[in-house]
Amino acid sequence: MTTSTPLPVNPDGTALKGIRGRVLTFKADPFLYNEQECYDYYDDGLVVMQDGHILNVGDYKTVAPEYPQLTDIDAYDDAVIMPGFIDCHVHYVQSPMIGSFGDTLLQWLNEYTFPTESKFKDKAFADDVARMFFRQLLEQGTTTANVFSTTFATSVDAFFEESERYNTRMISGKVLQDRNLPDSLKDESAEESILLTEKLLKKWHHRGRQLYAIIPRFAPTSTPEQLRLAGELYQRYIDQGVYMHTHLDEVQSEIDWVTQLFPEQPNYTEVYKHYGLVGPRSVMAHCCIVREEEWQVLHQCDCGVAHCPSSNLFLGDGEFKYWEAKQQDRPVRVGMGTDVGGGTNFSIPRQLNEAYKVAMLNMKNLDAVKSFYLATRGGAEALHLENTIGSLAPGYEADVAVLSLKPSEFSTWRMQFAKTIFEKLFVLMTLGLNNMNLATYVAGKKVYDRSRAQTHMYASEFPETKISDK
Ligand SMILES: [Zn+2]
Repeated sequence: MTTSTPLPVNPDGTALKGIRGRVLTFKADPFLYNEQECYDYYDDGLVVMQDGHILNVGDYKTVAPEYPQLTDIDAYDDAVIMPGFIDCHVHYVQSPMIGSFGDTLLQWLNEYTFPTESKFKDKAFADDVARMFFRQLLEQGTTTANVFSTTFATSVDAFFEESERYNTRMISGKVLQDRNLPDSLKDESAEESILLTEKLLKKWHHRGRQLYAIIPRFAPTSTPEQLRLAGELYQRYIDQGVYMHTHLDEVQSEIDWVTQLFPEQPNYTEVYKHYGLVGPRSVMAHCCIVREEEWQVLHQCDCGVAHCPSSNLFLGDGEFKYWEAKQQDRPVRVGMGTDVGGGTNFSIPRQLNEAYKVAMLNMKNLDAVKSFYLATRGGAEALHLENTIGSLAPGYEADVAVLSLKPSEFSTWRMQFAKTIFEKLFVLMTLGLNNMNLATYVAGKKVYDRSRAQTHMYASEFPETKISDK
């Protein structure tokens, strides 16, 4: 195809794209190492991208001269360029019921969640929700999410089809649930549910940037037979990078229920472990009320944990204790999750605001260095993707968020009193505004731009950049 304006082309035939401004990226876990050594920050930085990946990152004055052919640069004043945010636990199918009046977790599930999820048999309904979900995520700068769909194949297909349109790196799969929920949502049988899961896994896992997760909703909504078969499937595909995603230790009433249903197991984590569902790329949402022996299993098995403070506060569940998760002798991989629709917004920086308050209830603080690590590289580590996404470094996939330091009249005025970049970022997360993100790049393409008339663009809507296509 032809383009109206010639794009700058590198000798190997692909266009270069740059993003200039303040750049922040993490390279190690500040809960475990000296904070100063865990990040790189450039006051006037440059990110060079090519063919969906990051080619170089550094001070503009040092990096720019290396690329004389780089003329296509988006420059951002008063903003921070960082890796796209990572949402380690969210239910896209609950987007239509976010903000439903809540009581206890189990009652909220029965009254709002299950009736909403029952509608996803209808592909057109699922398509509409997936479309709005991705618009929200990208508007907030989230470029990767670990996502629950629901029982039906239609809910999985609608999700991945929309993800393919943006070329986002996403993780999802069919939810397994064959007891203790309405018939409209229940799997017909354990065997049938596993056959369907394997079919969807073969269809979507590693198709482009899509990744598949085996998802038992939580132990109480699966029969022992379904958990056993799910564990066998997970073990069969574990070497191919398939995920296991579920809920764990969210609230005491849920833990009591698990104890009743599985009296032979010493704790909740051991229920999943017994059925072969615990291993690398097992991601457990919540983990608010965790026994020491459970933390040890999560560490030994190299699991990821999603901290979902907005949801935990909204449903009055429990308080995640990062100082337990990050104990030096057995640290656990932790990222942030919105848990929409238990969570009350789609923004990862706004989750940091809630995470700070949850920690302070226990007189522990959470500074901006640790917070924005959790929002980016921490999430990638929880998903075992820390060599692919979550940092701005050569070879990484070019997923980028651009956070405005002046998203409102008041924050513009307030920022003059904040000196360092981390003071500014702490103000930003604490004010928790909904319009912080200016632009989102996915695999090097600006799929969201707050200032553009058409704010969202699918990857296919961009002009081709390969010279061989001209
Ligand atoms: Zn959840």
